[in-house]
Amino acid sequence: MTQTTPTPEATAAAGGPPFSELPLPAATLANLALLGYHTMTPIQAVTLPVALAGHDLLAQAKTGSGKTAAFALPMLQRLGDRGGRVRALVLCPTRELAEQVSGEVRRIGRAIDNLKVLTLCGGAPAKPQRESLAHGADIVVGTPGRILDHLGSGALVLDDVATLVLDEADRMLDMGFYDDIADVAQACPAVRQTLLFSATYPDGIARIAERFLHQPRTVKLIEQH
Ligand code: ADP
Ligand code: MG
Repeated sequence: MTQTTPTPEATAAAGGPPFSELPLPAATLANLALLGYHTMTPIQAVTLPVALAGHDLLAQAKTGSGKTAAFALPMLQRLGDRGGRVRALVLCPTRELAEQVSGEVRRIGRAIDNLKVLTLCGGAPAKPQRESLAHGADIVVGTPGRILDHLGSGALVLDDVATLVLDEADRMLDMGFYDDIADVAQACPAVRQTLLFSATYPDGIARIAERFLHQPRTVKLIEQH
């Protein structure tokens, strides 16, 4: 399911502080307002100030809470001078989720000229993906196995990655992606920002966090009924 409009859940959950409180460029704030994003959801309100300040993040929050914007905004802030090299990488468990994330990142990044977001997932031929990579990308969103394939072939270079996002990390572990995630993280520069989002907190997440996050701020959103 591709969501193009805010879900009732997120809209109801928003109502926190306004995005205008954040240190974001005016063009980004204007675009958020156009998207109907005026106030932050609870997870956005707690994670955005921390992530925009550059800290690593270990965030636990349920589906539909607005996690995409929580990592997209810091990731877009850290793109810096874009020269066609991949500056941010988002790992997702499935193709459907990767496509959803790409769409949302493009919408949130509309204020940035010629932003290139590439989706690289299994289940689709690799060759056109390699050709797209050859033309350069600012942000890559994909599933761990296919990202590793492109790393192995040399089509994907992660030397300039400033932000690594692990989205729905618990689901990636359920699908047996622990080693793939580790290999991808090791292919990224040691100095980077890593943002990990997960609905649950199994042992594997603790191990990933210990190995690949640097002094993370931990946020756990308790569900309110
Ligand atoms: P999650 O990744 O936590 O499941 P998403 O990032 O996909 O959640 O967000 C769920 C929906 O809520 C999306 O349709 C998104 O556009 C919308 N949304 C997110 N943040 C806000 C906000 N602050 N205000 C209004 N809508 C929002
Ligand atoms: Mg999500």
